[in-house]
Amino acid sequence: MNRPFVITIDGPAGVGKSTLARRLAAELGIAYLDTGAMYRALGLALGAEAADLPEEELRRRCAAFQFTLHRDKNSAWVLYCDGKPVGEEIRSERAGRLASLVARLPALRSELQAAQQRLGSGVSLVAEGRDMGTRVFPNARRKFFLDARPEVRAERRFKELQAKGEEADFDTVLANILSRDKQDRERAVDPLRPAHDAVRVDTSDLELDGVLRVLINSVHAAFGREGLRRASPAFSHLAGDGSLHMVDVGDKLETRRVARARAVVEMSASTLDLLKREALPKGDVLAVAKVAGIMAAKRTWELIPLSHPLMINYADIRFEIRDEPPSVLLESEVHVSGKTGVEMEAIMAVQVAAATIYDMAKAVQKDMIIRDVRLVYKSGGKSGDFQA
Ligand code: C5P
Repeated sequence: MNRPFVITIDGPAGVGKSTLARRLAAELGIAYLDTGAMYRALGLALGAEAADLPEEELRRRCAAFQFTLHRDKNSAWVLYCDGKPVGEEIRSERAGRLASLVARLPALRSELQAAQQRLGSGVSLVAEGRDMGTRVFPNARRKFFLDARPEVRAERRFKELQAKGEEADFDTVLANILSRDKQDRERAVDPLRPAHDAVRVDTSDLELDGVLRVLINSVHAAFGREGLRRASPAFSHLAGDGSLHMVDVGDKLETRRVARARAVVEMSASTLDLLKREALPKGDVLAVAKVAGIMAAKRTWELIPLSHPLMINYADIRFEIRDEPPSVLLESEVHVSGKTGVEMEAIMAVQVAAATIYDMAKAVQKDMIIRDVRLVYKSGGKSGDFQA
């Protein structure tokens, strides 16, 4: 029997902690503990008056709540309070404010912290909160501290509320985030701060899928080669060294996927003029560049080491000639009905088309610049749509 281990994730509200902690726990095949849910449940049950209770009475009332973890029928871990699952009722802005209010009370904190440690002594956990790495699990195997700019966190929370069909006003959501930050960071007991040995990640400009990979690789590094697989047998999909591996997409659903990428080729006005008049020595530059781009989309799997061979349905390159600055803007578009996206195909298509323009015109100008290669759009697949 392996000894239970704990991974901690701390950070302010709206930083993506809950989603990441839940997904990391699922990847590792261990339990997920949302300690904010415990503060929210007590905040709602005791109300703001909890702050006026004598310490002993508050301690007695808190100790009466029994928190346990159970798996539901989909094998997801659910927190129970007094035999009932803690549900959506704790997700309101009011519950968040009450949680933050009661979280300042030392007696209540110490009762909840003891309950969290009891939960962590029985099963391996990803524990998420504010003081997991600093106070509750100082000996965790890996500690993370996530942060993000307040405006970004407010935007995420605002979208969540809108998606749930709730009335939301961005400025109010931002004000709530800022006041909760202040309360959590400045309170006297266990303020929100990174543990000295925590891995810090700013998620402001990162995709959650990417952050999840960072966390997984970092946990893998903490356990060393083979160690994590022994500690958590469910964690078997990584390569032995936790890095280079082609993702097995056998179980993924086939969906219709589209990607578009852009690049710009800057050149002198006189080169552009020759290109427009099809007077460059090698002939019709854009026609050749188009064919080159389409061929590149089809052969991407041969060039990008861990990408999958795809039977693409469609590939095209469009061109826009710009006089100021003299340049050609290229946009590729690739479609597939498949298990993985065609972002790499779109990016390769536009780059090879741009390089072909260079090749076709280099006899008259060598210092053309290929720039601004980027994905501008993708749709389909689990990670959803993206628009630059
Ligand atoms: O994470 P969540 O937003 O659900 O947490 C609600 C509140 O509970 C936080 O603003 C914080 O004041 C408090 N909390 C805490 N310590 C934890 C988890 C949550 O003080 N470990």
